[in-house]
Amino acid sequence: MIVNAMSIDVEDYFHVSVFDGLVPRDRWKTLESRVCANTERLLRVFDDAGVTATFFVLGWVAEQYPALVARIAAMGHEVASHGYSHRLIYDQTPAAFRQDVRRAKALLESAAGCRVDGFRAPSYSITPSTLWALDVLIEEGYRYDASIFPIRHDRYGIPLSPRHSYVLPRDSGSLVEVPASTVRLGSLNLPVAGGGYFRLLPYSWTRWGIARINARERRPAVFYLHPWEVDPGQPRLQAGLLGRFRHYRNLDKTETRLRQLLDDFHFAPVRQVVAGVDTAAPAGSDTGLPYLW
Ligand SMILES: [Zn+2]
Repeated sequence: MIVNAMSIDVEDYFHVSVFDGLVPRDRWKTLESRVCANTERLLRVFDDAGVTATFFVLGWVAEQYPALVARIAAMGHEVASHGYSHRLIYDQTPAAFRQDVRRAKALLESAAGCRVDGFRAPSYSITPSTLWALDVLIEEGYRYDASIFPIRHDRYGIPLSPRHSYVLPRDSGSLVEVPASTVRLGSLNLPVAGGGYFRLLPYSWTRWGIARINARERRPAVFYLHPWEVDPGQPRLQAGLLGRFRHYRNLDKTETRLRQLLDDFHFAPVRQVVAGVDTAAPAGSDTGLPYLW
């Protein structure tokens, strides 16, 4: 039996990168917040299924709603970091990024009452030009990162990077990298496990993809979702056409699909997948892909 990783990026509907520029950060506090109610909804879904997950919580959310973070931890879930300000890494200097992840870690550890080991960047924004972020994360005490998506996409991705969790050595030390799941078809890596790919495509795509990763590769899949993705009633913001399509489509179907997914596969927090990574194996050796680092 393969145990897959379940993860939630805890942010509000107005934090999403698609709306960057539309909602200035100094207006965040003036908007109707729905993150607590939506996260509670997810906590109920996981509780019903008897599943624990990893919640990558935005530091800004932890600062506004520390009780939410405490509740996530009290229910047995792993609390991890989504950074403080939801700025894309390639829009930050290394010094600003360091402040951002340090502030988030301190807020989260204080609210959760336990150590925070994991990080996921806003919009998977660790790309070939921002690999320095990995050194910052190691130096700031993070033990794993889940930000490198091995696909081609307009905002993120390192297409040739390994598809399964691996030890990533850097000058400053090492961490475990936990990529979101893809299936390999021909020369392409296709995303199969979460977010827009879960909402926009039929559920059968996700089920097929995770089953294939588990059965053929004998590896865990890494799945992700956001609290706003189970909230069809969220206020509508005016993004471009593509952004609106990606953000609003099938919001009313996500919770039912998630319940089905939890029924079809086994899931645990990301830290459990990290614990299973063979730290002695050379990184990327099982992928058959060029090793980029
Ligand atoms: Zn995010």
